[in-house]
Parts: sequence; C-alpha cells; structure tokens
Amino acid sequence: MKIIPRRTKIIATLGPATDSPEKMRALLTAGVNVVRINLSHGSQAQQASRILLAQKCAQELNKIIGVLVDLQGPKIRIARFADENGIVLAEGDNFALDAKLDTNAGNQAVVGLDYPELPAQVAPEDHLLLDDGRIVLIVKRVRGSRVECEVLAGGKLTSNKGLNRKGGGLSAPSLTEKDLKDIEFLSQYTVDYVALSFPKCKQDIVDARRLIEATGNTAQIVAKIERSEAIDNIDEIIEAADAVMVARGDLGVEIGYAELPAVQKYIISRARLCDKAVITATQMMESMIYNPIPTRAEVSDVANAILDGTDAVMLSAETATGDFPIKVVAVLDEICLAAERQRMARFPRQRDDAQFERHDKSIAMAAMYIANHVPIKAIITLTESGSTPLSMSRVRSGIPIYALSRHAKTRGRVTLFRGVYPVEFDLTLYKSWEISRSALETLVAQGILEPGDKVIVTKGDILGIGGYTNALKILTV
Ligand code: PGA
Ligand code: MN
Repeated sequence: MKIIPRRTKIIATLGPATDSPEKMRALLTAGVNVVRINLSHGSQAQQASRILLAQKCAQELNKIIGVLVDLQGPKIRIARFADENGIVLAEGDNFALDAKLDTNAGNQAVVGLDYPELPAQVAPEDHLLLDDGRIVLIVKRVRGSRVECEVLAGGKLTSNKGLNRKGGGLSAPSLTEKDLKDIEFLSQYTVDYVALSFPKCKQDIVDARRLIEATGNTAQIVAKIERSEAIDNIDEIIEAADAVMVARGDLGVEIGYAELPAVQKYIISRARLCDKAVITATQMMESMIYNPIPTRAEVSDVANAILDGTDAVMLSAETATGDFPIKVVAVLDEICLAAERQRMARFPRQRDDAQFERHDKSIAMAAMYIANHVPIKAIITLTESGSTPLSMSRVRSGIPIYALSRHAKTRGRVTLFRGVYPVEFDLTLYKSWEISRSALETLVAQGILEPGDKVIVTKGDILGIGGYTNALKILTV
C-alpha cells in the first residue's frame, strides 16, 4: 500500500536551533514543507545564510520546499532600561511611557518608546498591554511626550517588549525603514512568500506589493491578521493578499484571547471561500519548546485548526530556538495525519449554488466533484501559475492533488496549499498528444502512481499560459 501523504502543510521558523546542515536536513526530512525566516530577529546576513542552507539541503534531499520571509512591520516597543534586569511593577504603581526619554534611560518610574506618535494616539482610560499582555497599564493622562499610567496587572518588565492597545487603533505606518531595507535585501534571494506584519487595510497590502515587485521580487504576499482593524477589513485584505495568516500572538493581545477561536474559524472560512491559502500560527506546540511531548490542549488545538480548514500550521520558537526542533515536527506530522483521517476533514462542501466566471475555476470544481464521487486515486493538474490547484484545494477532499509545473516559482507557491504536492514536469518537451501520458509516466517513475490507478488530469489547450485550464480527462494508468 502506498503511504497517503499528509495534506496539511507544516511551516517551521528557522533559527539558532536549526543552523547546522545536519539539523536542517533532519528538519526537512521530518516533513517541513515551508521554512520561515522571521526578520524581527537576527541580522540580514544570518537570515540570508538560513535561506541558502534550507534551499541547499532541500536540493540535496530532492525535496521541494517553500520559503516564507516575515517582515517585522511596525511592532511598537518600549525602549530599554538602564538596569539590564529590567524592573518589577506592582498593581497600583504609577508608570509612564515617554517618547522623548533617552532610549537607554528606563527606570522604575518611566521608560522610553520607539513610537513618538503614541502620546497623540492614546486617551485616558485606554488599556495598554506590554509583553503580549502580561503587563496591563491604564492611561491616566497625557502630558506632552509623556503617557502617564497606572499599573493594573504587574510583573517583571524588561527592555524592548512589545506594546499594544486593547481594541487596536495604534496606527504606525505599515512598513518601517527596516522593512524597506529588508525588502531591498530580499531581492537577491528566491523567496516564495513575503509576510506583512500588522496590515490594517487593503491599501497596506497594495502598497507593499508594489514596493516588493519594484525590486524584481515575484513572491506571493501573506497578510498577517494581527490587529483589530484587520478583522474589520478582513474581506478586502483577503482579496488584496495571496494568503493570510491567523497571527494569534498579537491578535490575541489586541482583541482578547477569548475571542481567538471564533475569529480563527471565521478567517479560515473567509479565506477558503475567496480562493486564498491560510496559515494558523503561534503557540501551536508552545510547550514543546522545552518538553519532548505536547500538552493534550495543544494536540486538540492543532487538530481543530485542521478541521476548521487551515492549509498550514506554523511553528515559531518551537523550531527556531526550542530544545526539540526535529521532534516537534514529527509530533505535528502525526497529529495532522490523525486529524485528516476524521471524516469531517475530508467531507466536501461542494459549492452547489456558486457561479464561476473563469473556466479554470469551473474545471477545478468539476474535478473535485468527480474526485469526491468516483473512486479516483489522484488529481493531476498541469499548471503554469498554480491557480487551478489552489482552487481545487479549497474544496475539502481526501484525494491528493499533484501540481505538475515547469516553473520553480509555481512549485514553490503550491507548497503551502493543503493537499497539493509539487512535481517538476516540463510539458513543453512533449507533443500535445503525448503530455498526459508523459505526466502519468513521471508520477509512476516517482512511485506516486501504479498501473491500474484511475486519475483525473486537467490541462489547458493553449500551452504555457496561466489561467487557461479548459480540459478534464479521466484516465487509467
Ligand atoms: P510574530 O507573528 O511571530 O511575528 O509576532 C505571529 C503572531 O503575532 O502570532
Ligand atoms: Mn505578530
């Protein structure tokens, strides 16, 4: 019996814990589909060497991986304390944030800020959350550059911790000077996805896409949903982006963590309906940063994200700095496979009342209808841009979708899509009547298909143009 491949994609953030060639090979072999570089940490040189190491190891292992680079964006942070151990705040203490204070001069009464606009954007009674919500301040008054607060929830506070306002509304420009430099630097590397941090509306995505394209970078754009305003504008953001991320860390601080499960389900279902890919991120296997096994709550959380319909689950510190970077991928793989065996994960909700303007989309939907109602082993889609397999994978199914493409860019793009597997195949090497046969032979040679398997093949009559899929055949290998 052939092994049924995992449909849910695993994204692993790279970091010091994955920096050797041995670790990287083990990480990819354990089943990582997309590696993530987080530009909030480390230097450009460090991150560049990680991209190159992952791509080199993938090539040696004959694996196709995607590369996702996450821009830091306008995360608002406090400045530094004079004492490197920071301070301890108690409930009821007075504490101020001062945009004009020297950046290294923080003390028990006041700390600087990397965001001079803060005093103009807050008002008395606002709740400010520091360090992902561990410390809560209430604004009492604003005097010039100084925001005077009282501590509602105290604890230890150290330098450079993040700051959010409950309910959102702090509007730093969507790309920082650092992001612009990082975009410039990225143009030298092959990157499949660039993730934008803290976008609040469609325009943020459109502007960033223009800047990224201007450097010659053809990466797809992932919008990280991590602000309250982004939820209000979710449909236009999904429309403008190529994929979205449910960025539960910052989002949970802005809207309150209790709201997260419902919002996660909503974002995932909207993304799928709009034919966009979706990633669920942050604290998925958090306890495995230090422990070799997950908590039962984490196992359930991952399984539920899969039942919600996520394309990918993402690991952050678990792989970047954790004690068990390889083990956590193996555990996640096992949880994904078990969740995918549940009937709910495969049960199609055919879009019976939908109308399709594009031919490729109607072919994709027809293929999924047949695949879910006729005993079919696999769907084989000859794709230029990856849009047909993307549409197909928006319909739940247990049937694997093989995306055969001659473009490395397209193969990289589809690494993120649930149930879609990239295969290198250059259809221009064959006469038009030989293509389906050669495609099947390629998959047999790779051990993916066997003689006798019934499959669906989709392709376009006009070769070499994206979005022109107009034919569907049922073939027996
Ligand atoms: P981050 O984004 O890891 O870059 O903060 C993800 C999140 O906020 O959940
Ligand atoms: Mn974030």
